[in-house]
Amino acid sequence: MERRRKENKMAKFHSTVSRRDFMKGLGLVGAGAAALTTPVFHDLDEMVASGTGDMANPKKPWWIKELDFEKPTVEIDWTLIKRYNSTYSSQSNNALYDKDWSNVVKKEAELKKSWMTDRKPGFSIEDYAFRDIIGNPPGSTNPWVPAASSFKSPEAQGVPKYEGTPEYNSRMLRTALRTFGAFGMAYVPLTANAQKLVYSNGYTLEDTKIGYSDAKKGNVIPTQAGITYIPLMAPEMLTGYRGNPSATNRGTHSKGNQILGVVVSSGQRFLATLGYQGLSGSIGCGPAFFPLGGGSEMGRIGGQSISPTYGMTQTHNGLSTDLPIDPTHPIDAGIWKFCHTCGNCAIVCPSESINTDKIPSWEVPTFAQSFSNPDAQFSVPGKKVFFNNMSTCKTHCDLCGGGCNVCMANCVFSHLETAAVHIMVKATLGSTPTFNTFFKDMDRVMGYGLQQFGPGISPPLNGTFNPAAAEWWMIETPPFGWDGRATQAHAQ
Ligand code: SF4
Ligand code: SF4
Repeated sequence: MERRRKENKMAKFHSTVSRRDFMKGLGLVGAGAAALTTPVFHDLDEMVASGTGDMANPKKPWWIKELDFEKPTVEIDWTLIKRYNSTYSSQSNNALYDKDWSNVVKKEAELKKSWMTDRKPGFSIEDYAFRDIIGNPPGSTNPWVPAASSFKSPEAQGVPKYEGTPEYNSRMLRTALRTFGAFGMAYVPLTANAQKLVYSNGYTLEDTKIGYSDAKKGNVIPTQAGITYIPLMAPEMLTGYRGNPSATNRGTHSKGNQILGVVVSSGQRFLATLGYQGLSGSIGCGPAFFPLGGGSEMGRIGGQSISPTYGMTQTHNGLSTDLPIDPTHPIDAGIWKFCHTCGNCAIVCPSESINTDKIPSWEVPTFAQSFSNPDAQFSVPGKKVFFNNMSTCKTHCDLCGGGCNVCMANCVFSHLETAAVHIMVKATLGSTPTFNTFFKDMDRVMGYGLQQFGPGISPPLNGTFNPAAAEWWMIETPPFGWDGRATQAHAQ
């Protein structure tokens, strides 16, 4: 039965696009316009082996184009971008947007108790325990400036401060941060434009050379120091997504935050030991900063960016330093363009929070405005994107133990893991939009995601549960939950 189902799917795959059309569009046959703009490979092995480069400022595989600084694939009007108060986000304070929020909080607590008692898949006591304790150990801290007792400065060691070229520094720091546990990173100079992405609450940009913390100013960013911001990324284990909505899925999300807590602590003390500033923590929205440095592109779901290697299932933290570093460029891997055609995430969203338009917009919808605070909006102007209702998403997510994320599990890029055919798909998306509709449809036909979901079909709130959540505990997980994406030749 299972075999016949797979054969039917493959029959549909082969009948939708001819093999020659597909290879031609990809540039695997050496004729036509595609061959002028993309390299010609003689077989898949040759193509897959092509992803190498200078890791000091990582060169991307050939299908990923580097763009001009501060011009990512999403159009940005920098004159309209203003620093954002993160306490206005629906994730931080949904009471600003959902008039029924106090009842939502009450209902969430009641559901949690009843599901734990009844041992519902994904919401048993062990599922919630996993979700609730996965952070860094109690008492561990990530101060903005490292404590003097936590490292030995060059002066304390009686040696000169470290000096190196920006190119070597970029490479060296990348090696250190990757070894500490970072998967993706980008180097974003904190220019006048990039400073507009720094949160307006908790951070002060000051005309000074040394960063510090202050009760009134919060964390002070020294604008005279030539600061580079380094958004850091850790992926979330894909098997954790097979069973969502579940509390365990939320836990696998927090696993990424846990490792990045270790990375920023080691990273800031490494920099301080060399004689440079290492200021710890995210200073702005990760899905805005990470695409600016080419770690990912923005996608239809604004709250998450999409990495060519790790897809959408990833989480962020960050470090700021005055170590001279070569900046990294924004990228075009065909992802943002693909999101225009796709929309699979919107089809499966149980709360209908995701925009279904084909064309992005500059206009912030009225639903992003708080009903109680005229200053508060959860989305802000200055970018041409697909605006989503992040308030209805937050309400739905919290009722699901914080672990809905059905959209992320269904994103086409969450399925592009390690197989050569997937690398070929990525290469095609980066070269031509011709097959975007085909790939979008195939993703659903092949049934990679959780496609039984959709408006009104929303476990666990409809009383049904995803049995895969209970099976998750039986999987022999890789250490740290890390999967094969990390070892891809082009892992960035
Ligand atoms: S997390 Fe769930 S509710 Fe929120 S946008 Fe994604 S699918 Fe919709
Ligand atoms: S599912 Fe499709 S539209 Fe949604 S974020 Fe992923 S690629 Fe973009």
